[in-house]
Amino acid sequence: MRPLVAGNWKMNGLTAQLAEAMMLADGLAAGTPPVCDVMLCPPFPLISALVHVVKGRSILVGAQDCHAKASGAQTGDVSAEMLADIGASAVIVGHSERRADHGERDSDVKAKAEAALRAGLTAIVCIGETAGQRAAGLTLEVTGRQLAGSLPKGATAANTVIAYEPVWAIGTGLTASTADVAEVHAFLRRRLSELSPGNSDKLRILYGGSVKPANAKELMAVPHVNGALVGGASLKAADFLGILLGYRI
Ligand code: PEP
Repeated sequence: MRPLVAGNWKMNGLTAQLAEAMMLADGLAAGTPPVCDVMLCPPFPLISALVHVVKGRSILVGAQDCHAKASGAQTGDVSAEMLADIGASAVIVGHSERRADHGERDSDVKAKAEAALRAGLTAIVCIGETAGQRAAGLTLEVTGRQLAGSLPKGATAANTVIAYEPVWAIGTGLTASTADVAEVHAFLRRRLSELSPGNSDKLRILYGGSVKPANAKELMAVPHVNGALVGGASLKAADFLGILLGYRI
């Protein structure tokens, strides 16, 4: 299975940030191509420009959220169809920041993921436990419930990616130990075989949470880790290229 390393720029980046995407594209072209898919997910206003900037280069473009409906009276929202129309090929749904800041529940995330599939986009479905849930020994229960509740109907390896992102590891500099990552990813793989028989072996499960050049190689080598979702370290081409180094052979 070809891994995916996706950068989530979150609410960062004015048009000048596109220079980092160009440096990333140049850096990728300069050496042996990485044996993984590479994606950047900028804020909505930069998507069109980024699609233009990386045209013909080996970088995919995704968004960070979408509405479940195709169109309508939803002021301020953006539909999956609109994202596909401007050249995005994927959308992150259910990021923990959206679950926390916008009260998104598993059912909302599932509806958004299904909207992504309807529009021909790849849905990157995020799940992950909080520090309190981990301390209470609830990690597998919580992530298993989120996976079952958020997985879109019709999920296949071609249209859906799971991102396991422990909430306490996002943007904190803390990373889960390789043993903890191995336990959760193996568990998610087993749950996928129940929830999506036939696709379970091929669906990519990314790890996210303070992935950096210094820890990427170790984390990406954990069984059932099929790439990474990267926040802070995706904003600088040099850092992102450092993470991708592990996939250059
Ligand atoms: C994220 O935003 O999905 C993320 C993992 O952020 P960071 O890499 O900064 O922890």
